[in-house]
Amino acid sequence: MDDGSRRSLCTFCGVVDQVTITAGGKVRGTGSAGVCVKGAHYFQQHLGSRPQDVQRFTSPMLRSPYGWERVSWDYAIDMAADSILADRQDFGRDSLGFYGVGQMTTEALWIAKKFFQGHLGTNNICSNAEQCLANNAGGHELVFGNEGPFSCYDDYRHAEAIFFYGHNPAANHPTIFQRYVRQNRGAVKVVVDPRRTDTVDLLLADDPGNIHLPVRSGSDVLLNCGFARHLLDSGGWDRGYVARHADPAAAEEFLRFVRTGPFSADEVVARITPHGMDPADMRDRFLRAAGLWARERVVSTSSVGINQTVGSAGVASILNLHLLTGHLGAPGRGHVRMAGQSNASAELAMGYSGRLLPFRMRVTEEQNRERMAGIWGLPSWRINPEPGLPVASFATSERLRTLFVFGTNPARNFPNLARWRERMMDLCVVYIDSYYNPEIMEYADIVLPCRTKHETSGIFLNGERRLQYMEPVEQPGFEAWSDVRIVCEIARTIARRLTDEPPPAVPAGAGVAEMVAKGNADLDPVALDAAFRYPVDEYGEPLSEPIWDEIQVASRGFYNEFAHADGRPITLGDIRAGEGAQWAGERRYRPENGEPLFSGVLAAQRRQATFHLPAEAQLVPYQDRNRGGFVLITGRGAMGGKAVRRNNVAMFNSSTATGAANWPDTNFVYVNEADAVRLGIGPGSRVRLHNEIGSIECPAEVSADVPAGHLYLSFHPDKADTHPNLLTSSDNIDPVTWQPLLKDTRVDLTPLPEVR
Ligand code: SF4
Repeated sequence: MDDGSRRSLCTFCGVVDQVTITAGGKVRGTGSAGVCVKGAHYFQQHLGSRPQDVQRFTSPMLRSPYGWERVSWDYAIDMAADSILADRQDFGRDSLGFYGVGQMTTEALWIAKKFFQGHLGTNNICSNAEQCLANNAGGHELVFGNEGPFSCYDDYRHAEAIFFYGHNPAANHPTIFQRYVRQNRGAVKVVVDPRRTDTVDLLLADDPGNIHLPVRSGSDVLLNCGFARHLLDSGGWDRGYVARHADPAAAEEFLRFVRTGPFSADEVVARITPHGMDPADMRDRFLRAAGLWARERVVSTSSVGINQTVGSAGVASILNLHLLTGHLGAPGRGHVRMAGQSNASAELAMGYSGRLLPFRMRVTEEQNRERMAGIWGLPSWRINPEPGLPVASFATSERLRTLFVFGTNPARNFPNLARWRERMMDLCVVYIDSYYNPEIMEYADIVLPCRTKHETSGIFLNGERRLQYMEPVEQPGFEAWSDVRIVCEIARTIARRLTDEPPPAVPAGAGVAEMVAKGNADLDPVALDAAFRYPVDEYGEPLSEPIWDEIQVASRGFYNEFAHADGRPITLGDIRAGEGAQWAGERRYRPENGEPLFSGVLAAQRRQATFHLPAEAQLVPYQDRNRGGFVLITGRGAMGGKAVRRNNVAMFNSSTATGAANWPDTNFVYVNEADAVRLGIGPGSRVRLHNEIGSIECPAEVSADVPAGHLYLSFHPDKADTHPNLLTSSDNIDPVTWQPLLKDTRVDLTPLPEVR
């Protein structure tokens, strides 16, 4: 810009705000939501910093018998290619895995999927969206047939009532919370959350008429069935909308289920109310909240509090209410997606799951593989028909040999963590990140230093379908490559190697099964080289435009075709201009579009919406089956805003960008006052949390903000390694998406003797 300022994006959370860095280094929010302390802090801490101040990797490194050795880029890329070829030769294509982060650019997500799934033939390609946002997609698919969100942030401004389910926007999406939610003074806000979070405190301070429903964990589907019953009994639903837009058989079954099931206010309140809370108080809050769904304009948002507990069925139970009331497609009426990670929505669209191809096509179906292979210019047999591993099974499967990890911490964020850490010791881990993290160095074998956020260019897709472009505001002071370049260089190195040293020929007459069972004879060096050769900029970085053009063309005909509301293709120019472009426009499912409004993954698969019927087990609050144990709730930061004081604010995000030196010494487990008295636990008492998976020792905080029978432990890194994933299971996954249900974890709590 003429005045020396530089424009970019904050990609620290799923809002993806526009920022401008002034010539004097000030960070200004220049989009409609502004910028929050986390985003501003990141830029202030990192812009112009020396690598050692922010613990950057400054060169590729290789584990050797003598410790870590710095090596050249050529050598490191060669080693990464070697690992792929050797494991593929000896153990087959399923031995390769990829685990990415929701902060990779859209270009990188596309390139990695094309390389690992298309050319290398492994379906073990997933990302941390499978651990956080996947069930939001799953819920949408259950009810509307495709994962695409249909609302926009502006809907918060138009709503009369706003429901937050398991979502703490005050801490996690502050700009939207401050500028869109709190500024809408006329709307009644309802927070469904077992914890009294910052969001609850602030909204009740704004207006005591706002409502906190501190339901027992695992109650959300039951609660929503109660809301639905109230709407049916009070006439607050929209018969006409249901008749026009819902599948009639599913609608009839759902209405009967709700009318005849145990969903009266009294029945529901009796089961969702935590011990110690007056049921009459809960009943009053329940009825006030239920009545709000009958208002003209209602918006809801759900987050990991739902995604990691009742999962897809929980999200579907909220979307059932939107369908029942016709709250979708118009200003102030809809379900707004708020993602934790800036590009998690692109991960969903690109099918980052062992079950899926890009655009959410199931990999097990032959016509889908043919379609995708056609897009990638490959023979369809190259795509593996066997689904890949769920993320949760990485710990327990022997399948993987080499794992590529992009920008996230696998030594922290996998369930069944102790077992996974053991398993990682057997793998070749190629780690691509910007920042040094001592935990990961225990397991990594090859480290490739990549460009960090403000040094990278690329496209981000947020929760309101908005595509925006991140411009680099600084060049790294050493050689660091983008994720896109790293994948392209590895692919083309493999192509060169296959040309120089062709693998043994496949016997004449060999079938596809023999071609792909083991070995690299199925790889095509010419196709590989051509597919990953893009024009580059002055730093050798692949340009966005040809990659975006490839993605845009590939998206045609799918539910999420990257086109404007009037059907014009979205170009990179559109994405770079102003606040970018929203695919399908500001809102989907607009009433004026006529019917049918909904589709499967292909836009031509027209269908009506389908009410989702939950399974019996999804209606049971966790305490009812926990045999006296506690429900362990996890989340970001400490309780009651203490994270702001105790931890570096940037650690609200699970990024490693703050460096290990800033981690707190230990996390605390938060225990309800009544439970603390019963167990003789005081503030600072040391306790053990344990179950059949593992055990953690840490100090306790006593708090009225967690309900009785529940515990809260932050999943942020600390020096004492008190990570909740040491207690979470590989087996408890969502049946639709395979997302681990991390917050459905039973633990016992034992006070430890005081050490004097
Ligand atoms: S709300 Fe999210 S995207 Fe916006 S400035 Fe804060 S961290 Fe960045």
